[in-house]
Amino acid sequence: MDFFNTPIEYLKGVGAERGGVLRKEAGIATFWDLLNYFPFRYVDRSTYHQVKDVSYVEGSVQLKGKIVSLSELGAGRAKRLKAIFEDETGSIELVWFKGAKWIKNSLQIGTLYRVYGNPKRFGTAWSIPHPELTLFANVAHEKGLQPIYPSGEKLAAKGLTSRGIEKLTFELLQQCNGKIAEILPSTLMEQYALMGREAAYQAIHVPRHQQETNKAQFRLKFDELFFLQLELLIRKQVAASKAKGYEFPLVGEPFQTFYDQHIPFELTQAQKRVLKEIRADLRTGKHMNRLLQGDVGSGKTLVALLTMLFAVGNGFQAALMAPTEILAQQHFVTIQELVAPMNLGVAILTGSSKTKARRELHEQLENGEIDILIGTHALLEPKVVFKNLGIVVIDEQHRFGVAQRARLWKKNTSPPHILVMTATPIPRTLAMTFYGDLDVSVIDELPPGRKPIQTIHYYEQSRLKVFAFIKQEIALGRQVYIVYPLISESETLDYQNLMDGYEAITRNFPRPEYQVSIVHGQMKPEAKDYEMQLFVEGKTHIMVATTVIEVGVNVPNASVMVIESAERFGLSQLHQLRGRVGRGAEKSYCILMTGDKVSKEGKKRLETMVSTNDGFKISEVDLEIRGPGDIMGTQQSGLINLKLADLSRDGQIVGIAREAARSILLDDPNFEKPEHSYLRAELKRLLKSKPNWGKIS
Ligand code: ADP
Ligand code: MG
Repeated sequence: MDFFNTPIEYLKGVGAERGGVLRKEAGIATFWDLLNYFPFRYVDRSTYHQVKDVSYVEGSVQLKGKIVSLSELGAGRAKRLKAIFEDETGSIELVWFKGAKWIKNSLQIGTLYRVYGNPKRFGTAWSIPHPELTLFANVAHEKGLQPIYPSGEKLAAKGLTSRGIEKLTFELLQQCNGKIAEILPSTLMEQYALMGREAAYQAIHVPRHQQETNKAQFRLKFDELFFLQLELLIRKQVAASKAKGYEFPLVGEPFQTFYDQHIPFELTQAQKRVLKEIRADLRTGKHMNRLLQGDVGSGKTLVALLTMLFAVGNGFQAALMAPTEILAQQHFVTIQELVAPMNLGVAILTGSSKTKARRELHEQLENGEIDILIGTHALLEPKVVFKNLGIVVIDEQHRFGVAQRARLWKKNTSPPHILVMTATPIPRTLAMTFYGDLDVSVIDELPPGRKPIQTIHYYEQSRLKVFAFIKQEIALGRQVYIVYPLISESETLDYQNLMDGYEAITRNFPRPEYQVSIVHGQMKPEAKDYEMQLFVEGKTHIMVATTVIEVGVNVPNASVMVIESAERFGLSQLHQLRGRVGRGAEKSYCILMTGDKVSKEGKKRLETMVSTNDGFKISEVDLEIRGPGDIMGTQQSGLINLKLADLSRDGQIVGIAREAARSILLDDPNFEKPEHSYLRAELKRLLKSKPNWGKIS
């Protein structure tokens, strides 16, 4: 048997009982699992801080000194144990809110201790809550870094504290000598200055100094990300070789005519580049599966139209699918106007299309009179049959699941090409990982002449000032959005806030001088559409709404977006909402209203919004704050199981790993070269352990 597959019970110091707990609590079943159970931080045992410096140190401190007194304070829930700890330079409090009794009995007054913890400031004094305390006599011999492993109550009960796990790992490493094979070819090792694999395992578990540990972490994170990227790229290759796409060899007459005669403005460089990328897919007969990212207002609609014209010019039909009825309507109106002078069949199909109109439409779809069909997910119904559907453009990827997209594939004998457009920029790292098997195009440039939206944060006490400003804008002929949060958990409360707000607004903006629309989730769809339409047509000045307006509505005359309780919105939502203004020629404003109490994270979000309009920058901050799981949704993030690498922090390594994976595949797509035999074996092993891996897009 392979040494590393040895059951963990066989390791000296483990045995049946501990083995059981390791399996159950830590997922460690074999030697290899233990080797890949990594410390989550290191404590620098080589240096001690002095108490007088505690306020300057960032993060954790390590102190050496004595406890001079102990006292129990408070009662009930507020009960706590306080110790005064001092070294030659001063004293500081240690505090325990739990386990006070046990700790009190075990602490020795006047004995030298090592204290490790995170100092917190209470008022003017510093204290360390729940410090790690060790008798100095027991640790005096320690040098360098100490790894800290994740443990837990059940593990600790069997002696498998961080310390216990450290000992086992140390024992295992003694036996590993020379057994951890190098799997990367030397070209990669040299190119990226990677530490050897065995040395990296040694250094990550038995660290000598921080620099070495960093190199070890880099190496092992690289492995993790490199193999992930290899898998993604291989999947992409396989998909490309399997699914034959319809070939659109021609640019085609409709495209040519539109481009030469009817296009309302010159394309931006970014739009041109993206179109070239799309065209390159379509002309070759490769099946396109492309994600188009572009910030709000970057001009994705025009790209969608031009892409659909490629299909039409090659004898195919095209469909554009939007997440809501209002958006489908807007796309329909926009596109119909753009191609009005041309002889094209453009139609719309939504849930509210009437039966008779539907029947006619179905017929025209089947006989090919309709070239471009725009609609909602009503397009997906089986009775909607095309003569020859060649491409589907999906606006706003976040609302369309994998299953829905799969239904599109059945709309023709071969799957139609798919272009997914999203206005929520996804950080590069996540795009490379979660959509690593899709092609990604990015529109990273806004059309010229846009005036940047000015974003301002106001606290509640400035409300009258804000209202005065709104009146001023309305007097200039502009329109205003006022948006309230609506988060399902506290819906009733939010609904109340919205209604209170609406009342305050109608009081401050009385009729007939001011007309106010309201739209929220509890209204009937027809009522919503009606109110929305009033605003779109400029018949109302103010639109009070919940986030139903978030995606896509286009009212170029609206110049002010007020977001109430802005601290409760996520960054990408704030950015989307802001994108509703700044669509016309006038300077536009986004006003973020908050109460006085805003959390640290909330402040960071507000500051980010105030300081930049760049959706990609915003998405990076969002990633930093929320982490990849929250952004991609737990369902998707569960598919990518990373032990060591952190997508919110290791973006750079992701990029390097992808580049490395690509160059290997280019050089030796089937891993036939002798120097790649280890790579092939490792990949096989990895793929075997995840049978259900896949279905990411
Ligand atoms: P989004 O990417 O958010 O869907 P749209 O396609 O709605 O953006 O475009 C936003 C606005 O920019 C529209 O009014 C559109 O007509 C305009 N626009 C698009 N491309 C250009 C361009 N190349 N030059 C000038 N204006 C453009
Ligand atoms: Mg759009």
